[in-house]
Amino acid sequence: MGKCKNITRLLSDALDRPLTIGEWVAIRLHLPTCSGCRNYRKQIRLLRVAARTVSGIASPEADGSDD
Ligand SMILES: [Zn+2]
Repeated sequence: MGKCKNITRLLSDALDRPLTIGEWVAIRLHLPTCSGCRNYRKQIRLLRVAARTVSGIASPEADGSDD
């Protein structure tokens, strides 16, 4: 199946913008059948958490200078 390319792309798109119902359905139908894409989803979730943590640390520096 050549779907993995689409699915992984949708998974990363989902971090930036809302997906359509059809796109979510495609993901939800595919993930249970594909451990590779499930691992990919885990990884980008971790990256997202890490990115938020970094921006949370960097934020006060840019935020506090105004007041
Ligand atoms: Zn897959």
